[in-house]
Amino acid sequence: MISFYPGPSQLYSQVHDFMREAAEEGFLSINHRSKEFVEISRSTIEVLKDKLNIPSAYTVFFVSSATECWEIIAQSLIKKSSFHISNGAFAEKWYEYTNKLLPDAKRLEFPFDLELNPQSINIPAESEIICITQNETSNGTQITNEIIQEIKNKNPQKLIAIDATSSMAGIYLDFDLADVWFASVQKCFGLPAGLGLMICSPAAIEKAMQINDTKYYNSLLSMLEKMKDWQTSYTPNVLNIYLLGRVLQDLPNIKIISQRIENIAIDYYNYFREIPGLRLLVKDQSLRSATVIAIEGEMNEIKRVKEAAKEKGFLLGNGYGKWKDSTFRIANFPAIADDDINNLKKFFKSYK
Ligand SMILES: *Cc1c(COP(=O)(O)O)cnc(C)c1O
Repeated sequence: MISFYPGPSQLYSQVHDFMREAAEEGFLSINHRSKEFVEISRSTIEVLKDKLNIPSAYTVFFVSSATECWEIIAQSLIKKSSFHISNGAFAEKWYEYTNKLLPDAKRLEFPFDLELNPQSINIPAESEIICITQNETSNGTQITNEIIQEIKNKNPQKLIAIDATSSMAGIYLDFDLADVWFASVQKCFGLPAGLGLMICSPAAIEKAMQINDTKYYNSLLSMLEKMKDWQTSYTPNVLNIYLLGRVLQDLPNIKIISQRIENIAIDYYNYFREIPGLRLLVKDQSLRSATVIAIEGEMNEIKRVKEAAKEKGFLLGNGYGKWKDSTFRIANFPAIADDDINNLKKFFKSYK
């Protein structure tokens, strides 16, 4: 079965071998305070920064998931109020998690089929951090680097946090534009679930110091203290950190990956215009995600396509949130091979 599910997703094909090597080299039972671990952690962060073009002054933290990052931001980077820009289910969840901890969290909802206009957003003075879901996995929309740049220019004194869970390592992201970036590795990194990455600018670290939260095992300052020695404040997913380093080592720079993914996305979007009974959920080309393709149709048709695909060995992603029954999603993640993509397209031409 080839998985086109947008997370957990198809693994990079090398992962099986790397897992065996990790076991053979004894990495599965190393102590997380040992110098072997420190070396794996340090070299993984180094290759991550190199391949994804992450500024050297940013700090990378290993966490367990993107969801955990929502909570860390609420605990360690906001005193009172955040501002959430939301057009789908994941941004909404981020807002809701934050709002439970910080009832002053504010939200701007915008329609998923309209472009966000940064000039028209009025962010209250008391909002300390602007929370943006760069790639909304639930409906296959994305917010471009250019729009993030405009939001930053208009709000130079505020921190910006970006959920890039289903785009980081798939498309080029300009890390300089925001202060906190996070993702989990079961999406574009093509790895098994159970590891998240949180990447912080010096301004974010400074803000954490002002807030001085140290109440939780995953308080940013506790994590920072340990990360000075390439360690974590808990026993981390050593296997996944190792796999991340190994996989990244073999990959080209993100700009090259991004080009491939964008080209495949254009092909998919052109392709689905021609398939009877199916439509692109996102009509405006400039809003469409390169990494998550959402296809809309009648409920029965959607169900039928998913079942027929499964019989042929293709796992399509279910719809999500309010698009659960009316769409399916295709992950356009870099671990998926060109041949598999071509075979999937052939399937769509012939399944009826
Ligand atoms: C998948 C996803 C999450 C949740 O990731 P976890 O690893 O399950 O915490 C959060 N945000 C977005 C945009 C996602 O796609």
